[in-house]
Amino acid sequence: MTDSSKNNPLLSARIQSDLTDASIETYAVRGGQVRTAEAEHSEPIFTTSSYVFNSAAEAAARFGGDEPGNIYSRFTNPTVATFEKRLAAMEGAEMAVATSSGMAAILSTFAGLLKSGDHVVCSRSVFGTTNVLFEKYFKKFGISTTFVDLIDINSWKSAITDQTKVLFLETPSNPLGEVANIRDLADLAHSYDALLVVDNCFCTPVLQQPLKLGADIIIHSATKYLDGQGRCVGGVVAGAKKEMDEVYGFLRSAGTTMSPFNAWVFLKGLETLSIRMKAHCESALEIASWLENQPHISKVHYGGLESHPQHDLARSQQNGFGGVLSFEVEGGKEAAWTLIDNTRMLSITANLGDTKTTITHPATTTHGRLSDDDKSRAGIVPGLVRISVGLENVDDIKDDLSRGIKAII
Ligand SMILES: *Cc1c(COP(=O)(O)O)cnc(C)c1O
Repeated sequence: MTDSSKNNPLLSARIQSDLTDASIETYAVRGGQVRTAEAEHSEPIFTTSSYVFNSAAEAAARFGGDEPGNIYSRFTNPTVATFEKRLAAMEGAEMAVATSSGMAAILSTFAGLLKSGDHVVCSRSVFGTTNVLFEKYFKKFGISTTFVDLIDINSWKSAITDQTKVLFLETPSNPLGEVANIRDLADLAHSYDALLVVDNCFCTPVLQQPLKLGADIIIHSATKYLDGQGRCVGGVVAGAKKEMDEVYGFLRSAGTTMSPFNAWVFLKGLETLSIRMKAHCESALEIASWLENQPHISKVHYGGLESHPQHDLARSQQNGFGGVLSFEVEGGKEAAWTLIDNTRMLSITANLGDTKTTITHPATTTHGRLSDDDKSRAGIVPGLVRISVGLENVDDIKDDLSRGIKAII
C-alpha cells in the first residue's frame, strides 16, 4: 500500500469492488475489477512474466499450493484474472479461464476434460477449424466425434453412445443462422451424464446466456464481438469450478494462456459490448428486411426475420438476433462475386463481429474445404453471401450493398 491510500480510509474502503446482483451491463463495465494501492480508475496492464516472494518460505508455500497468489504469468496474471472474473459474471458462471485464442479455448476444454476412448457429438455447422481439430487431431488421441444436424434433436439422440461425454454446438449457426434449442439439448446431454458445451461467440452473453438455459460450459472466441474492434486474438471458457479446474490445469501446463495486453483490450471491449450488440442487432435487422425486397436476392437468412424457420425459438432464447446475416444471390457464384467486388466500403474478409461491416463468400472461403455434397447439405449454395453488420451508418451500408446489387446483370 502507498502512504496516500493508507491514510485515506474512504479511498481504501472503495479499493476492492465486490459487485453482486448487478445487471449484465454493469458487470461488463465494472465486474472483476480489483484496484491496486495506486487507486487507478481504469484497469492496469500487468506486463510481468513472473512475481517475487517475500521469503523462501512464501515461495515454497505458493509453489506447494498452500498459499494463494501469483507465481508466473503462464498460470495467473492480474489483468487476465480481471477479464476472467468480468466474463464469468456476465455469463453467470462460477469461473472462467482465458485463452490465447478461440481455438485454444476449444482445445483446452476438450484436452482438459476428455481422455482416449471418449466420444463427442458435434453439430455439423460449427466453425471450420473446430471441425479440423475434432476430425484430424482429437482423433489421433483416440477421441472420436460424430457430426449431426444442429436443429434435428433426433440426429443428436441417435448419435449418443455409452462413451459420449460432450455435446457441442454453436447457436445461431454460421452462416445460415440456424437456431438449436439449448434447453432441450442440455436435458438430452444430462440424461446421458454428458456435458453440453456451447460456443456462444455469435450472441455473446449480452444476447444469450446458455448456462441459464442448462448448458454446462460456454466457449468464446474473444476475437469477435468481445473485442469487437478487430485488434486481438483471444478466447475464454466459462462454467462450473469442477470442470474449469480441469481446463485451467491443461492451460497451465500447455501454455494456451492469454497475454495481459490482450486481456486489457478485451476488458475495454466488454465495457462497450452491451451498446455495441444493440446497435449491431438494430442495423442487421434493418438490412435483412431491406434485402428481402431487393432485386436478385432470392433469400435472406436472419433469425430476426419472421420468414426465418426458427424465428420464434430465437426470440424465446435470445435477447436479440445478432449482427451476422447471409443472403442468396440469383446467378450463383459469379453474381455473388460481382456483388462483393462492386461494394467499395465493406471489408472483404471472413472475420466478423467488428465495428466495420465485413462481407464474404462462404462457399469459397470459410466453407471452401467442404466437398460439394457437404456444402449443399449445409445450405452453403454458390450464391450465398454473408455479412457481419458493423457500426457504420446503416444507410451507408445499404448504399454500398446497392452498388454491388446493381452491378449484377
Ligand atoms: C472465430 C471463431 C472461433 C475461433 O476463434 P479464434 O479466436 O479465431 O481462434 C471459434 N468459434 C467461432 C464460432 C468463431 O467464429
